[in-house]
Amino acid sequence: MNPNAQFPRFLADEEATLAFGGSLAAVLDAPLVIYLQGDLGAGKTTFTRGLLRGLGHAGSVKSPTYAIVESYPLSGKTVHHFDLYRFTAPQEWEDAGLDDLLTEDSVCLIEWPQQGEGFAPAADLSVRLENVENGRSCSVEACTERGREILEAWLS
Ligand code: ADP
Ligand code: MG
Repeated sequence: MNPNAQFPRFLADEEATLAFGGSLAAVLDAPLVIYLQGDLGAGKTTFTRGLLRGLGHAGSVKSPTYAIVESYPLSGKTVHHFDLYRFTAPQEWEDAGLDDLLTEDSVCLIEWPQQGEGFAPAADLSVRLENVENGRSCSVEACTERGREILEAWLS
């Protein structure tokens, strides 16, 4: 299978972004790091909301823009949803002790990962969202062998 042949994928509305995020839940395995790339309003938090719902999270999913991270303990794993938009320097990752959240059972989704460059963990998977007409265009890239396995399972 060539995963690239399945991208970019057009997500026509918010429901499509939620559903695509939710479809990752079935194959997700910890530990894993996923970068969420794209401008403000591209759908990064919406994608994460879909994934969390797919994993059985019933409560709300707040954007972690102010808190930097929101953590969701779920059965067998903990999802940490980061938003580094407000970092003034990548060093803030270390100063805030965020490495302590990187455990064997953690799945990390990171919005604005470039704001933590050199300190935030490297990505296994990178999801890129872009505004296209009234919807979004989405591409996913595997950055490690582990990411490639999950991407293949996700798309098969
Ligand atoms: P980000 O976290 O990238 O800043 P959000 O997930 O908060 O963006 O989404 C911003 C807005 O985009 C929300 O109002 C959401 O409903 C909308 N949105 C998400 N996906 C789509 C889509 N595929 N088509 C149209 N609007 C979408
Ligand atoms: Mg967001």
